[in-house]
Amino acid sequence: MGKIIGIDLGTTNSLVAVVDSGIPLVLADDQGRRLTPSVVRVPASGDPVVGWEAKRARAAHPKTTITSIKRFMGRRGGDSDSTKDALGYPVRAEGNAPVTVPLYGREWTPEEVSAEILKVLKTLAGEGMIELPEAAVITVPAYFNDAQRNATRKAGELAGLRVERIINEPTAAALAYGLNSLKEKSKIAVYDLGGGTFDLSILELNKGVFQVLATCGNTRLGGDDIDRALVGFLSEQLGQAGGPAVTKDAGIAARLAEAAEEAKIRLSTETETTIALPFLTPEFSFEFELSREQLECLTKPVVARTREYCLKALTDAGLASEDLDQVILVGGQSRMPLVREFASEIFGCDDGKPELNTTQNPDEAVALGAAIQGGILSGDFSDLLLLDVTPLSLGIETFGGLMNVIIPRNTTIPVKRGEAFTTVADYQKDVLIHVLQGEREKAADNWSLGRFTLEFEPQPKGMAKMGVQFEIDADGILHVLARDIKSGNEKIVEMRSAVDVDDDDVQQMIEESVEHAFDDIEERRCVEAQLRAEQTTEATRKGLETYGGELPGEQRAEIETALAEVAALLTEKEKGGTITAASLKDSNARLDSATQPLAELMMDRVMEQMLENRGVLPG
Ligand code: AMP
Repeated sequence: MGKIIGIDLGTTNSLVAVVDSGIPLVLADDQGRRLTPSVVRVPASGDPVVGWEAKRARAAHPKTTITSIKRFMGRRGGDSDSTKDALGYPVRAEGNAPVTVPLYGREWTPEEVSAEILKVLKTLAGEGMIELPEAAVITVPAYFNDAQRNATRKAGELAGLRVERIINEPTAAALAYGLNSLKEKSKIAVYDLGGGTFDLSILELNKGVFQVLATCGNTRLGGDDIDRALVGFLSEQLGQAGGPAVTKDAGIAARLAEAAEEAKIRLSTETETTIALPFLTPEFSFEFELSREQLECLTKPVVARTREYCLKALTDAGLASEDLDQVILVGGQSRMPLVREFASEIFGCDDGKPELNTTQNPDEAVALGAAIQGGILSGDFSDLLLLDVTPLSLGIETFGGLMNVIIPRNTTIPVKRGEAFTTVADYQKDVLIHVLQGEREKAADNWSLGRFTLEFEPQPKGMAKMGVQFEIDADGILHVLARDIKSGNEKIVEMRSAVDVDDDDVQQMIEESVEHAFDDIEERRCVEAQLRAEQTTEATRKGLETYGGELPGEQRAEIETALAEVAALLTEKEKGGTITAASLKDSNARLDSATQPLAELMMDRVMEQMLENRGVLPG
């Protein structure tokens, strides 16, 4: 097998690395630069320009220079990003159609734009090799959903690369870390704050096996938000100094954004810096002294937002921070001293355990890890194994509109799990399988990944058996198999694009699941009690019809009363009234107890019938 390159396809910058003679290396361009800005400029004619040149051209051509395209990967109109207006170039985000960038009469898909970046990285890698690489491992944020992962894979293919694996960025960073300072057994947190995304992963490293215990994060939180806060502040200062309105001129906005980011980066090593923007208009130049303290004051709320994800991941992994050995910092934005202070404070690193590890070059760890994964796949590192986990639970909708989880959140992948289901109606000809992703108890509150129908051999209800199997492959892509067990008729559906994913991101899903946990559980109990009540009332009515005459009047009346009580609650629920699970359960229990004599009588009659059929009964 040829070399497999590792690519960190970042929101702001991208990198390519490869394992050479057992050593992972980030590759540099002919000027020694290891970062390639994830910026693509589309000229009126000719090929797109990518990287440093495109980044430089942004101020002069903001409307045709595409930045942060990663935010739109696998996204649809209804899903659109709140930051799209601030990017300077046009973005078409309509209805359920994939987001595109319309430029010079052509609709650029995010995959095509990313492919331009990947082509440049492929060529860069090829310069140091005997032949152009054909295969790659590409990283994505842990919270990318299926559609976003698939879009990344497609971008790789459009760039002429065979995409061997899509792996999570923090996992890749941990791989890079693990190769250098791997203890026999340790637990680490990877705090990854990049340009556009924040990820927190907790991993266990055990004798060369990497396992992700939990991941948590936000695909819309990163250095760009810090830049935005600073740009807002500088725009005000500019206005007060009598300067032009930034919002009215895309060129000025782009210059200000660039100057703000540069100042932010300088303030990671300096305590004061000057922002100078000469001749914003022929008659106006802007100059401003910014201190690190001011920057920290402005951006503290952004950095503070990372705390909740750290705590959530610890809870999910069932760990306290003192159980961790290391917290490693990844992503360009983690170079900011304020970010380091926060991470240290969140995990209590001041006492020395866990240790705050900043030995990794935060920009390069992810690409190095991707290259190591490439090395593992091509056999360069045979004693390492990588285990990843699902970020959200996957399941199907069942009776009563509930979510039935088949693969729970944080399950190690690849994974295959199945369950058997039955039908609710007599002689049902088909069943609709509604595949869901999320943490909520009610199906409607989760993300809909897709629906398909499985045809059935009609049978009485409860007799038909259907097997549903979920398989998540090594790339995190879900394949759903549904089979009618009797006829063997089956369907396999690959959830390639998560078409119906609504615009809530994963984080919101998790937050909501925590927020609504109490109500959700109550709702589930209520639906379960309702289903039970429906089954029992139907069976009791049938029993009364056939055997009711044989019961003493008092017992009959008791059953009728209990039945009426349950029926009243069911009607109330149907009308949308609020009834508690507890009240339904109590009524169910009263009905159960009232029907005891009827159940015994029915059992006796069934037994008699059986014995009679066998000819054992005298007479
Ligand atoms: P990444 O997505 O990991 O490439 O991170 C890019 C983000 O890191 C951008 O928002 C950069 O402005 C930011 N960044 C890069 N270097 C520094 C630095 N030295 N100090 C603060 N932020 C930085």
